[in-house]
Amino acid sequence: MPAITLETNFEGGNLGYYERVGPAHLRLGVKGEKDQDGRNRQANWYSFRVEGATPGQKILFDLVDLPGEYNYRPNRGAITQDTPPVIREDQTSWRHVTDYDYDANEPKLRVRVIPQAAVFWLAHVPPYTNRDLMALEKECQNHPAFQRQIIGKSLGHRPLLLWTIAENAGTASKPTVWLMFRQHSWEAGTSWVAEGAVRALLSEQGAELRRNTIWKIFPLCDPDGVARGGVRFNSLGYDLNRNWDVEDPQRMPEITAQRQAMRDWISQGHRIKLFLSLHNTETAEYLEGPPNPDATTRALAEKLFEKLNQTSFDPSRPLSFSEVSTALGVPGRMTVVQGLARDFGIRGFLMEQRISFHRKFGRLPLPEDRLRFGRELVEVMWQVAHAV
Ligand SMILES: [Zn+2]
Repeated sequence: MPAITLETNFEGGNLGYYERVGPAHLRLGVKGEKDQDGRNRQANWYSFRVEGATPGQKILFDLVDLPGEYNYRPNRGAITQDTPPVIREDQTSWRHVTDYDYDANEPKLRVRVIPQAAVFWLAHVPPYTNRDLMALEKECQNHPAFQRQIIGKSLGHRPLLLWTIAENAGTASKPTVWLMFRQHSWEAGTSWVAEGAVRALLSEQGAELRRNTIWKIFPLCDPDGVARGGVRFNSLGYDLNRNWDVEDPQRMPEITAQRQAMRDWISQGHRIKLFLSLHNTETAEYLEGPPNPDATTRALAEKLFEKLNQTSFDPSRPLSFSEVSTALGVPGRMTVVQGLARDFGIRGFLMEQRISFHRKFGRLPLPEDRLRFGRELVEVMWQVAHAV
């Protein structure tokens, strides 16, 4: 019998190490990443290819090295019984592994797979890479309402993209709706939402959505993290949704470029009516508005929350508003929503969507659910932008 090997030599491929416990039993250390100070370890991305499996014969994978920290508080890790891996075999789409159990003491997630083929892929959630984004962009570029712009380079010299979707884009009197995806590289679910949103905006039925509204989209904010299979930090460890009160083009060019693009747009006389950054969590789903909301912001937030509730968005808590900073008085702890509110008075929102069991779907979410939600999302954003 050939030995089973695990490969990560493809975009987003990542695994810490693995040991053979037996011929069909492997122990895998999830790599995880820490921030610039060696804190806030998060281990919730892995993506690898299994080779040399015997079709029909069960393989055991033990995922370990899971504990971490979030906002400086230690935890047992983001990978639990709620987050089974997804599997893809040749020519099939991603589905969730169904045979697994979690040992909270170690902690360890044990996964059992009976493959149909010698080669298959496992990942934390269905991946969405820079390469996938380039394929989408190539399709979009045939559309006259689509424009792409490179607003800067990441630490790894990858282009930072800004997409504009609008009929006759320039008019400053039209409201702008600004969407942001993939500040955190592990949160691939949001890229599927982005693809659904963009496809809807460029569809025939999307003509009304792009006629009186300018759509600005940061489709993928951490291209380096997505390429290496990172979690939430840029190549130097800076959390890309925390350092929005820091201007440091050397150490966090991603944030600097995104902020500058928004500043330029506003200084050209445009109104950013709504801003939304999309994220994934393991088990929570919610919408959070900007700090210190005035009456107009509250009305906008309530409308948005109410309309979203009619989609597959399935909040685990009521509408909330952000603190002024994630750690008051400590620099480097402002989210994009907090930073944009302080610097530009923008009404920004953060949405988290869970990757675990989803009540409205009655199962774990898959790419087709995210794509559909993207379509629903732009309709809701458009209605709210023109209603309040
Ligand atoms: Zn996030």
